[in-house]
Amino acid sequence: MKKTMRAIFFDGAKLGYRSDYPPPEPQSGEATLRVLKAGLCRTDLEIIKGYMGFRGILGHEFVGLVEEAPDENWVGQRVVGEINLPCRRCSFCRRGLERHCPERRVLGIKDKDGALAEYLTLPLENLHLIPDSLSDDEAVFVEPLAAALRVLEQLAPYMEKTRENWRFCVLGDGKLGLLMAQVLKAEFPEVICVGRHPAKLALLAPRGIKTYLVEEEIETKFDVVVEATGRREGFSRALGLVRPEGIIFLKTTLHEEVDFNLSPVVVDEVKIIGSRCGPFSQAIKWLAEKRVNVVELIEAEYSLEEMKEAFDRASRPGALKVIFNILESSRRR
Ligand SMILES: [Zn+2]
Ligand SMILES: [Zn+2]
Repeated sequence: MKKTMRAIFFDGAKLGYRSDYPPPEPQSGEATLRVLKAGLCRTDLEIIKGYMGFRGILGHEFVGLVEEAPDENWVGQRVVGEINLPCRRCSFCRRGLERHCPERRVLGIKDKDGALAEYLTLPLENLHLIPDSLSDDEAVFVEPLAAALRVLEQLAPYMEKTRENWRFCVLGDGKLGLLMAQVLKAEFPEVICVGRHPAKLALLAPRGIKTYLVEEEIETKFDVVVEATGRREGFSRALGLVRPEGIIFLKTTLHEEVDFNLSPVVVDEVKIIGSRCGPFSQAIKWLAEKRVNVVELIEAEYSLEEMKEAFDRASRPGALKVIFNILESSRRR
């Protein structure tokens, strides 16, 4: 391993490219990975606005090669990694709520250097092997796809025999919204997606997903609305579209606070479910079975040195997935 590495570091106020960052030291039980590719997501853009108060190397969507590990069998394997590092001692961890451990560190989000660097470390139990049939580009989507699949997990207890008749609405045509719509359509016949960008919505049409622009009137009430707009007004729109006793899944995390009237939730007995990280092994399986298409969601690829261009590109309204090729300075725009 090299003595210094290239990395994108956020000091709490400013983002900077560093060529002399010290490589991470693996803690007990941790593997050191060489990062191949890493994706940018909305969370990263929120972090640099102050969300989570994070300082360190950004990035939590990645694929890498295991360079060193406490178990030799892992060395040389291509992997992705779960981003939560629970304490495994507290009462939440002991009850199987590791993802909600109050002491948890989160890769590139909370107290743990992330993936926009040549190396990162993660506990072996966080790692998942990537089958050869998946490209690096596809593997970068395991984390966001798992987050979309989390909605299916959370929905399961509410699904009745009549599930075929349920109508689903996804608000938002960002990266997560487009993934979310594909995931739901793979399981249920009636799925619509509401967004602002005709070109992005057009990616869904070949899959039989009906799309609407935000300004269009929608008469239907939906059994399930997934709010993935990344905007503060998304929540009230979701309330306006859900049927009484229906379910709203909230996927947006915002740095800013949102004010809204809770009365309709009470009167219509709406269930509101927050939804964050999901099952990695299932996401890998879905990608291997080609149940969703993620490669078409990649907008551009940059090297770490091109940090500014990459973040500017990812911040543009309507931007799709921007990924970093950590090994080289190859580009694809
Ligand atoms: Zn993310
Ligand atoms: Zn814990």
